[in-house]
Amino acid sequence: MKRILVTGALGQIGSELVMKLRDIYGTHNVIATDIRRNESEIVQSGPFETLDVTDAKRMFDIAKKYQVDTIVHLAALLSATAEIKPLLAWNLNMGGLINALEVAREQKCKFFTPSSIGAFGPSTPKDNTPQDTIQRPTTMYGVNKVSGELLCDYYYNKFGVDTRGLRFPGLISYMTPPGGGTTDYAVEIYYEAIQNGSYTSYIAKGTYMDMMYMPDALNAIITLMEADPVKLKHRNAFNVTAMSVEPEDFANEIRKHIPNFEMNYNVDPVRQSIAESWPNSIDPTAAVEEWDFKVEYDLTKMTQDMLHKLREKFFVAGVR
Ligand code: NAD
Repeated sequence: MKRILVTGALGQIGSELVMKLRDIYGTHNVIATDIRRNESEIVQSGPFETLDVTDAKRMFDIAKKYQVDTIVHLAALLSATAEIKPLLAWNLNMGGLINALEVAREQKCKFFTPSSIGAFGPSTPKDNTPQDTIQRPTTMYGVNKVSGELLCDYYYNKFGVDTRGLRFPGLISYMTPPGGGTTDYAVEIYYEAIQNGSYTSYIAKGTYMDMMYMPDALNAIITLMEADPVKLKHRNAFNVTAMSVEPEDFANEIRKHIPNFEMNYNVDPVRQSIAESWPNSIDPTAAVEEWDFKVEYDLTKMTQDMLHKLREKFFVAGVR
């Protein structure tokens, strides 16, 4: 990777990935794009262009202007929002992806886009879900993610585009709030713990899902993209995870730091049913074997860091 175009760069992943890529590959070699513009460091610190990923011509123009050799395609509608606006989700998630793949094909770029644990469904084995298994999701987001995995493999097999992907679990981070996913509760709980000492979860007690801390997710993207292609038996997309957790696990871990933390439940039927259609835990063995996937943060270490960073954000910065 030498010159990288990132779509959806102001979102939860992009806002941290762009800064890390700029550190490694050079500020001017990472071109951040998003449908919106804000005052963030991403926009201020290096190249930034507004780009609606459904506008194929503008995407081509930007890729040519900056002579990019890698595309990291992040712009998408996430699971919970996609279930409320399924047609918009199809048009954005599939339309944006095919445009980005076409640019990669024509400009001979390497290509990364995330899949998700949402690419699995109720008929998938729930525990230690294998890399290669049944994928019959029942959500629009899941339909988009499975179609996306197939499309990326198609572009690799048919046109030789170097496509690579990860099936991300819920990602937990403190910089940019999550954008409408089913696992957002796992971020909100830390914010509420710091600000109010209590949290009301929309996901029911005992609902296990995979999660990962953002620094591990960023490392996974970069390690996969730099991996020797000869070793890759799979491409789109690898199971990756750091922990399989349910709401009470977070509450118990938070109580080690905030003993009076109170947990309540008011289950949202839409997000709960999405969560129940997903695996309890996925098996990342293929990622470990093929490109040495590893994580640094478990629940304990992540909780310490999240609470520390959020305290800095809210109290030191004088927000509250
Ligand atoms: P996000 O919702 O935080 O950010 C998405 C960004 O895309 C936003 O900045 C938004 O402004 C932008 N966007 C929306 N419509 C656009 C358009 N038409 N053109 C250009 N940009 C547009 O999402 P995220 O959490 O950063 O997720 C990025 C990718 O990772 C998505 O494909 C998502 O499915 C996947 N993923 C995320 C998670 C997670 O927990 N965050 C888990 C699994 C997979």
